[in-house]
Amino acid sequence: MSGYSLEQVRGLIRDIPDFPKKGILFKDITPVLASPGALSFLCEQLAKPFQSKGIKKVMAIESRGFFFGTGVAERLGAGLIPVRKAGKLPWQTVQESYALEYGEAVLEVHRDAISAGEKVLLIDDVLATGGTLRAAKSLALQLGGEVMGAACLLEIDFLKGRRALDGLPIHTLWSV
Ligand code: AMP
Repeated sequence: MSGYSLEQVRGLIRDIPDFPKKGILFKDITPVLASPGALSFLCEQLAKPFQSKGIKKVMAIESRGFFFGTGVAERLGAGLIPVRKAGKLPWQTVQESYALEYGEAVLEVHRDAISAGEKVLLIDDVLATGGTLRAAKSLALQLGGEVMGAACLLEIDFLKGRRALDGLPIHTLWSV
């Protein structure tokens, strides 16, 4: 038992105004990571709704998705797939470009990361406009995966990220 409640951990997330640019209220999760036991508690909470869904691969999105993807994959008995920014993966990749709340980017995974028909769960820290998860979903679909859902710590409600994900089951621990 970690002894944490969701409300306690929520209180550890720090708001940083105007980072990385003016008008963005950045949700800083580093105090959560620094609290002994909190990471494990959150991975448990993120994995919970997907325990009996037959998930074979957890796709964790660079970079903050990596912190949680590992623990979720472990709990689900699934493999871990790093979804990385362009140019970081050493072998052949498939790519998808996307727009962020602040900027644009390209995500990649290795071509052999997912086998046809494998059930996939997407993991990131924050759901904002949904562009990042949408790109990750598209990568999984390009490789023939079946995307069962996505899990994030925090959802920024007013940005309506769920709408970009066409009814995909999305599990978030808090919304702001
Ligand atoms: P989006 O594609 O707009 O849903 O943005 C989600 C991605 O950008 C996630 O990988 C987050 O880590 C990051 N992100 C977007 N907005 C914020 C925010 N306000 N605070 C922290 N991270 C954010």
